[in-house]
Amino acid sequence: MDKNDPRQILAQARRFAEDLSLFEGRHFIVPKESAALGSVSNIADSSGKEAPAAEGENAATFMAVESLVAFDQGDALDAFREEICECTCCTLEANRNQFVFGSGNPDAGIMFVGEAPGADEDQSGLPFVGAAGQLLTKIIEAMGLPREEVYICNILKCRPPNNRDPQPEEIAQCEPYLKRQIELVQPRVLCTLGRFAAQTLLRSNLTMGRLRQSEHSYEGVPVVATYHPAALLRNPQWKRPTWEDIKKVRRLYDGVAL
Ligand code: URA
Repeated sequence: MDKNDPRQILAQARRFAEDLSLFEGRHFIVPKESAALGSVSNIADSSGKEAPAAEGENAATFMAVESLVAFDQGDALDAFREEICECTCCTLEANRNQFVFGSGNPDAGIMFVGEAPGADEDQSGLPFVGAAGQLLTKIIEAMGLPREEVYICNILKCRPPNNRDPQPEEIAQCEPYLKRQIELVQPRVLCTLGRFAAQTLLRSNLTMGRLRQSEHSYEGVPVVATYHPAALLRNPQWKRPTWEDIKKVRRLYDGVAL
């Protein structure tokens, strides 16, 4: 191994992290290569330690691993929730019972993104627990996955009064939270639920019907836009096209060509 090649150091760090995952059952965020290469090449600076010359190759690898190991996704999400759960950045906090951060597997391959908490979610602090949530659970199970296997959250973390549409300033305040959640979970595929989530993430004002028909990505992660489960309760004829979208989500998750 070339001890000066950050790519090789990162590859070795990945193998170490994978072995640790296997034996300890812990999950690690392995940063995307471009981000990681910066941190590997700066590792002595960022940790404050110098790699001992005699152990150059191993020291650099171990320090890279150390930085990966320190990054447990569950812990990182918990810490992030703690950091933001008392948010007062917009007026929605005034009527909030609970901040609805998101729930599910911190290492999920699939992340569902809805619009905003409703009354049930505001009471429980969990996303998608009302009637629409029960339908979402059935959809996830129809994909062959337990709900706990995926990650579920919303564009807004607090309930808008009377479930009104989120306002642009609320979205502007809240969206960075979602962006960070996506960075921490690193899903293989994102599935937006409803027009609002799709238009916000995709910076589009196309209709739901049009958004469904194209391929999208957000920060390099493929996005499938489908109907909101609450809309399916009112318009059962949309269940068939939703199922086609959900099969696409499953194929992306499985890494199979669309
Ligand atoms: N609708 C949403 O968009 N999100 C929820 O969490 C519940 C209902």
